[in-house]
Amino acid sequence: MEQHLQHPVFKALADIADAHHIEAYIIGGYVRDIFLHRPSKDIDIVVLGNGIEFAELAGKQLKSKVAVFKNFGTAMLKYQDLEIEFVGARKESYRSDSRKPIVENGTIKDDQLRRDFTINALAISLNKENYGKLVDPFNGLVDLENKLIRTPLDAELTFSDDPLRMMRAIRFASQLNFSIDEQAINAIKKQKERISIVSKERITDELNKIILSKIPSIGFKYLFDTGLLHLIFPQMSNLYGVDIINGKGHKDNFYHTLQVLDNICEATEDLWLRWAAILHDIAKPATKRFEEGHGWTFHGHEDKGARMVPKIFAHLKLPLNEKMKFVQKMVQLHLRPIVLAQEVVTDSAVRRLLFDAGEDIESLMILCNADVTTKNEYKVKKYRNNFELVKQKLKDVEDRDKIRNWQPPISGNDIMEIFGLSAGKEVGLIKNAIREAILEGEITNTYDNALQFMLEKAKEFGLQPIKR
Ligand code: ATP
Repeated sequence: MEQHLQHPVFKALADIADAHHIEAYIIGGYVRDIFLHRPSKDIDIVVLGNGIEFAELAGKQLKSKVAVFKNFGTAMLKYQDLEIEFVGARKESYRSDSRKPIVENGTIKDDQLRRDFTINALAISLNKENYGKLVDPFNGLVDLENKLIRTPLDAELTFSDDPLRMMRAIRFASQLNFSIDEQAINAIKKQKERISIVSKERITDELNKIILSKIPSIGFKYLFDTGLLHLIFPQMSNLYGVDIINGKGHKDNFYHTLQVLDNICEATEDLWLRWAAILHDIAKPATKRFEEGHGWTFHGHEDKGARMVPKIFAHLKLPLNEKMKFVQKMVQLHLRPIVLAQEVVTDSAVRRLLFDAGEDIESLMILCNADVTTKNEYKVKKYRNNFELVKQKLKDVEDRDKIRNWQPPISGNDIMEIFGLSAGKEVGLIKNAIREAILEGEITNTYDNALQFMLEKAKEFGLQPIKR
């Protein structure tokens, strides 16, 4: 902590505080992160008095521009790579229909009491007589050591006042690999319905932070066990459970999905590939059948799952752009490499996969690797070896045929010129025929071969070239 407080910015703030006889503290996430050795650039300063006036004084001293948010009573300045936010200590009380509190001036303890968790309520004094002293009225430091998320006030009241805190509790547990205090868990179970007054965007922000944590299953298990998941993302909690008919069960797709998600997090930081892991089996409940003599099947879950992706994204206010399309494509294709790994692989099957996955083939292979969750070591080894063979095959075929960034060797314009056609159905038919021939391996992916093939094929369509 000593070394953090040596920063000239804190010395400058301390001088201002003393010169103007104002109590000032560093508070919240920055203090927590000092103890967790997580470097942070966001600093919150709370003063007993007017936060905006204090920020103006700091801005003068540090020669930095101050952004004032009058409505919130806060002000912010940037100094080097730090973002420093100032606020006056406040006391908050809530009404039942809103997350917006009624605010009055308060003591430092009042201000700490309004904080969500004890680990987020730690403060460090900046005034000379006790510079660097930790102010920790709720034993936040002990909770940090015990890796515990606990609320300073009664947990039920805390979550009822601002239900976003339920998501934040679970998000911090997932990010920090902490447990949530039992009273807090019970309080979330009781107050979960209150999540309905929180905007979808805020909920999804927290969900994405859970997904970006190192072991997201920690957060999802809390979401599921408290009943929140069912309210915010029912399609995912529907994955839970095992049906048994004639003594035959299937795997629990909820826990399988969590395993796939944790697996993929070891291989990628990409939020959208992580979303693909969450959604890869999302249509299994809807496609589940028990077939006599065969057992459980989930035919078409990849197609139905891909169709569900836009609805889920819209519901969660996730972007409906190329990120959504990427996730959809991963869900749609997630079984294809597995099929290739099991069967004798033909070049044309490999070419088709390269064509369909295009630039995203590596992401797809990462997803498929993560999808291997059997506990049987022998099987894991076998699948992984087969994937290596598929990868090699993909590489060989790609080196030869250049399919993944597919550009037709003969363009639509070429076709129109050669046959004197205007844009229309015939041009599409010819292009398709060429593509199919290349994917099937009848011809190689070169202009000359494609031209020769096209001229032959055109006869079937009754077309004559006007120019060669
Ligand atoms: P991170 O930067 O990882 O999100 P943080 O704790 O800095 O963590 P912020 O959202 O920036 O998170 O909040 C800063 C501080 O404000 C918190 O440490 C906490 O003391 C307080 N705080 C934030 N949101 C709430 C809330 N909904 N209820 C009560 N206190 C909150």
